[in-house]
Amino acid sequence: MKCFFDDGAAVGVCRFCGRGVCKEHAEKRMPYITTVYVGASNTPKAVVVDDALWCGECKPQAQPVPMPEIY
Ligand SMILES: [Zn+2]
Ligand SMILES: [Zn+2]
Repeated sequence: MKCFFDDGAAVGVCRFCGRGVCKEHAEKRMPYITTVYVGASNTPKAVVVDDALWCGECKPQAQPVPMPEIY
């Protein structure tokens, strides 16, 4: 697999958009929300990975986007 941005060998995949990224492009990190659940007192809680691999190009939403149409 090659880097999406250049011809370097991909060392990982962006957690947000799935593009392959080489060592140089994989240096950025972004908190990644893996799970959101409703805890005690109906307080929404999120399980967050602090340093998920991020390509630096895509624009992940800080909050999960509601998708009522899938229900
Ligand atoms: Zn990305
Ligand atoms: Zn690259």
